[in-house]
Amino acid sequence: MKKIAIYPGTFDPVTNGHIDLIKRALLMFDEVIVAVATNPKKEPLFNAEERVWMIIEALSGVERVSVEAFDGLLVDYAKLKGVKALLRGLRAVSDFEFELQLALMNRKLDQNLETIFMMPSLRYIFLSSTIVKEAASFGGSVDGLVPVNVERALMEKYRVTKGE
Ligand code: ADP
Repeated sequence: MKKIAIYPGTFDPVTNGHIDLIKRALLMFDEVIVAVATNPKKEPLFNAEERVWMIIEALSGVERVSVEAFDGLLVDYAKLKGVKALLRGLRAVSDFEFELQLALMNRKLDQNLETIFMMPSLRYIFLSSTIVKEAASFGGSVDGLVPVNVERALMEKYRVTKGE
């Protein structure tokens, strides 16, 4: 039987930390499904379609990965896919409490679903989509923190937002 993991998140936008985690997961799983949460409540900078496409582009040439958008309960989506492993990333200690709460809630909703935590490379340990957007919005360089296509999309987005 194929070992498949779902890696859910907002990915607004995908960073090199996310990519690092996906590549690490591919060493353990036969397939990884990156599941982009539509999350309108979070008012993302990029819409779901843009977020999906940025990941697909960033992972071009990487096999055994698929990317799709989802909404609703993650446990329902996992059941629909027949997947029993959820992948989440742990960076600094600050992630722990929220991630534990989320994992236990998902376990309550579906006993058969296990959450697996992975750590990124040390250089991405303090990297988040939020910090990347913050820097880019003030014209700061995000070189090396996000894939090149994302860097371009951020520049474009903020130029448009600022109406330049
Ligand atoms: P969410 O809104 O679900 O937290 P994110 O896109 O922010 O969505 O993150 C998705 C997952 O990836 C989370 O488990 C988060 O902890 C993890 N993650 C985010 N940034 C990094 C990083 N730099 N290194 C490793 N994991 C990360």
